[in-house]
Amino acid sequence: MRDVVIIGSGCAGNTAAIYAARANMRPLVVQGHEAGGQLSLTTLVENFPGFPDGIRGPELVENMKKQAQNFGAEFLHGSLLEADLSKRPFRLNVDEEWIETRTLIVASGASARWLGVPGEQHLIGRGVSSCATCDGFFYRGRKIMVVGGGDSAMEEANFLSRFGSEVTLVHRRDQFRASKIMLDRARANPKIKFLLNTVVDDVLDVAANLVSGVRLHNLVTGAVWEQEVDGFFVAIGHIPNTAVFKGQIDTDADGYILSKGGARTNISGVFHAGDVQDRTYRQAVTASGAGCMAAMEAERFLEAEGH
Ligand code: NAP
Repeated sequence: MRDVVIIGSGCAGNTAAIYAARANMRPLVVQGHEAGGQLSLTTLVENFPGFPDGIRGPELVENMKKQAQNFGAEFLHGSLLEADLSKRPFRLNVDEEWIETRTLIVASGASARWLGVPGEQHLIGRGVSSCATCDGFFYRGRKIMVVGGGDSAMEEANFLSRFGSEVTLVHRRDQFRASKIMLDRARANPKIKFLLNTVVDDVLDVAANLVSGVRLHNLVTGAVWEQEVDGFFVAIGHIPNTAVFKGQIDTDADGYILSKGGARTNISGVFHAGDVQDRTYRQAVTASGAGCMAAMEAERFLEAEGH
């Protein structure tokens, strides 16, 4: 029987593990299918406090893991297949092995939605990104493309216009999901050019291991052409990793966990941390803060029960 199991090994999960381990809760961290979370997909992180020269994303999250292990946290490679949160102890099926735990911290994150076109996955971190805040700075004076027609795409295009020589926003329709104010702001930005009714067929250049351009396709005219691009940002939404908790943990319509205050969920003893609940900030530092909160709440919860 575990005191606490943490689902997810990004900033939120690893920080929860540091705090829980230091509170002698012997946490077990289930790493999930994207071990290290979103940070493991980025290059240099320059906005995490404490690293004046920046730190590589994978190194930052690996350091957090080591820090947690130094205090006795255990890490398990595997994915959560099933969870029974109907009574305590909670029961978790991790790769067909059932684990029992008194408390649960859900830090399973939200995965960026990708286009799924050739070249995209291979070039993540080499010109392809899903996070303008993380990677925009690297494209100072370069050609940037953003894909999407929602608020995220508008926000990212506006943010990236501070860095890029030009920003091309590609959207598959000529109607937008973005709110009027965000769209108007992007439209008024002289650096942003819109390419509508257009989709990306291919991200180039896999052979060179670096983004050099994209192949585009106009859905109305049928025209196909290539355009030079240095930074390719996909902003077509995120998918919170909560499918396994469906019907048990309360979420909003898009699957993000609904907070009941602090790190609490609707189930007593189950806590949330990081992007799985946060659709607004989604930063490494805010996820870490949320991991700290969840671990402290789990500790207090167990203490109140006399464990
Ligand atoms: P979203 O509103 O769901 O928009 C996703 C966009 O990506 C849509 O325009 C969609 O096109 C496009 N898309 C999806 N799959 C695609 C594909 N396979 N190929 C090409 N395009 C694709 O997502 P979001 O922009 O991330 O926003 C999510 C939520 O967060 C929204 O509620 C938004 O208001 C909120 N948000 C708010 C702010 C803010 O207020 N500051 C900032 C960011 C996000 P279609 O329109 O054709 O479906």
